[in-house]
Amino acid sequence: MAHIWQGLLNEYRDRLPVSQSTPIVTLGEGGTPLVPVPTLSKKLDAQVWVKVEGMNPTGSFKDRGMTMAMSKVAESGANTVICASTGNTSASAAAYAVAAGVNCVVVLPKGKIAAGKLAQAIVHGARLVQIDGNFDDGLNIARELSRSYPVALVNSVNPYRLQGQKTAAFEVVDTLGDAPDVHMLPVGNAGNISAYWMGYNEYAGRTTAATMSADFDAAAADPRDFAPVATRVPRMWGIQAEGAAPFVHGGPVANPETVATAIRIGNPASWDYAVAARDDSNGFISAVSDSEILDAQALLAAEAGVFVEPASAASVAGLIKAGEAGLVQKGWKIVCTVTGNGLKDTATALSRQEITTESIAPTVEAAVELLGL
Ligand SMILES: *Cc1c(COP(=O)(O)O)cnc(C)c1O
Repeated sequence: MAHIWQGLLNEYRDRLPVSQSTPIVTLGEGGTPLVPVPTLSKKLDAQVWVKVEGMNPTGSFKDRGMTMAMSKVAESGANTVICASTGNTSASAAAYAVAAGVNCVVVLPKGKIAAGKLAQAIVHGARLVQIDGNFDDGLNIARELSRSYPVALVNSVNPYRLQGQKTAAFEVVDTLGDAPDVHMLPVGNAGNISAYWMGYNEYAGRTTAATMSADFDAAAADPRDFAPVATRVPRMWGIQAEGAAPFVHGGPVANPETVATAIRIGNPASWDYAVAARDDSNGFISAVSDSEILDAQALLAAEAGVFVEPASAASVAGLIKAGEAGLVQKGWKIVCTVTGNGLKDTATALSRQEITTESIAPTVEAAVELLGL
């Protein structure tokens, strides 16, 4: 019988900090497709895939970290979780809180959450706390509350989040047979680039600073105890939005602004891990404009059949730009993570499309005539 995907904690159990007594809180996340982008491959004379993380249960990669973090919450017996969010973390936390049977509080920046993401937090019954501030302010509040009160923080500063997220790198290697030459992804709070770098290294039998984080009560098995699955690690190319590009500026940005709300973050929590991923992989973190992001979003939809949210398209916008700058070598294998589903924010996607509907009488003849058949 075909293998039925069991969720990433079960699939990669031996490489994650899970013990016999950890209740597995899962919605079947992970196992997302790697979809080729033939037009971009041709244009760049390379092999380009997108890792479609919008296929996760709540429509973003956040579910990878949330299954891990929420399972540890369930193990600890806490009954309330809290997170700050630009939208997808709250959507994911709210859904996994339902699965775990705990209460969920989300701290949201006022008026900057895409409608689909807000709807998810609402239907899953989270308690919504709106602040007159941005994501960075919200994270400070959530962190402080979790320090002094009985609420568990499930933002990506919770080290279990990165542990879950690293499995996306495992899946890329499992699918391609080895690590690609380049892995590209959007960078906001910088947890994901840190997690991929950890995952790729662990599959190559190496450790990173994040692997060795002392923050675990139940450490994952040492990756050096496994036979390596990959022979190499990729260059990590991280992409930010120009208006929210602290890594490009070399320090925090006070008032981040971008249409890609999921990466509208000025003071990334995983700063050191992301810098290590960039430097140790011989990679870079650069920025693209909002209009380049929206162009890439449209290109992916029209040419690859993949509808992603704006932040996700930053990776592909960065690839196009890198190609124009002559940074892409012939024949390279390149994977771009597209982090979230386009259906979460249809307003932004449609704002640049001319919507033409052609009206006819409700008959076959009228349709034949219109379509010239
Ligand atoms: C959270 C998120 C990001 C940013 O990921 P970080 O780990 O914060 O860098 C990018 N895109 C989407 C869709 C997200 O939800």
